[in-house]
Amino acid sequence: MSANTLIEIIDLKKYFPIRSGIRKKLLKAVDGVNFRIRRGETFGIVGESGCGKSSLGRTITRLYDSTEGRIIFDGVDITHLRGSALRSYRKKMQIVFQDPYSSLNPGMTAAEILGEPLKIHSRLTGPEHRERIEELLHIVGLGKADMEKFPHEFSGGQRQRIGVARAISVKPDFVLCDEPISALDVSIRAQIVNTLVSLQRELHLSYLFIAHDLSMVRYISHRIGVMYLGKLVEVADSADLYRTPLHPYTGALLESVPRIGEELNFKAPLSGEVFSPVDPPRGCRFQFRCPHATDVCREMEPPLKEQAPGHWAACHLHESR
Ligand code: SF4
Repeated sequence: MSANTLIEIIDLKKYFPIRSGIRKKLLKAVDGVNFRIRRGETFGIVGESGCGKSSLGRTITRLYDSTEGRIIFDGVDITHLRGSALRSYRKKMQIVFQDPYSSLNPGMTAAEILGEPLKIHSRLTGPEHRERIEELLHIVGLGKADMEKFPHEFSGGQRQRIGVARAISVKPDFVLCDEPISALDVSIRAQIVNTLVSLQRELHLSYLFIAHDLSMVRYISHRIGVMYLGKLVEVADSADLYRTPLHPYTGALLESVPRIGEELNFKAPLSGEVFSPVDPPRGCRFQFRCPHATDVCREMEPPLKEQAPGHWAACHLHESR
């Protein structure tokens, strides 16, 4: 693992047992995912609802136990850590959740919400503890006057700022941003993204930024992984992915992004059957929605291969390259 790599994910799987009638089955939410996140990098993950992107984030941060595979954090295999060893890594890996309202305790003030992780993970007490809370509020664009307010007294954007301040309060190396702007008004999404970008520069943070469409991750991500039915189907530098998408699914996602100057007209280029992650089909999982599918796509699952330097895609269309 190179010194520049903070997180390496190796063949990670997360299966959930479910009941289907009298039979027990497995929902394969994450089904053999590999990628790396560099220090100071934002790695974006996009895909439709149910593709497994949130399960992937929660497995990486050890909110869920993995079914198979390995999670290497800063050179240490944290896949099966427990107890105090896991707690020391929890400090280094923080999360900003999608819904700032439900992720903040409504009965606690902003000062109490920010003070809680500091009590657990830092030795600050008394005036130093309070000064750090003031500093955190200042960093995310809030003030001393906001310390004693409760979550319902803030706007949605301000609540998410508190969520961001809580995540950075213990000086993590990595933050999972799990659809952090999806629940916010379009007008304030850019403010939150700009806050995350400037914090990344100041604190040299690495982000895994999860979103359901490509327009949201474009601005913030250095590299992007596109996920479909539990698998990564394309990984590339952000600009490269937008300029030259190689997988038909990525192309369809890009088609559905409205362009500046065009009338707001969300196209729906994707049709066809979406298989359940409980019973994925043999061959390519995208075959029933893909206009290019052939017999080989129905027989063989395409591996994720490097098609150009740093640009990976899992599609038989590019097999002969
Ligand atoms: Fe389409 Fe075949 Fe490529 Fe799958 S492998 S995306 S079905 S062309």
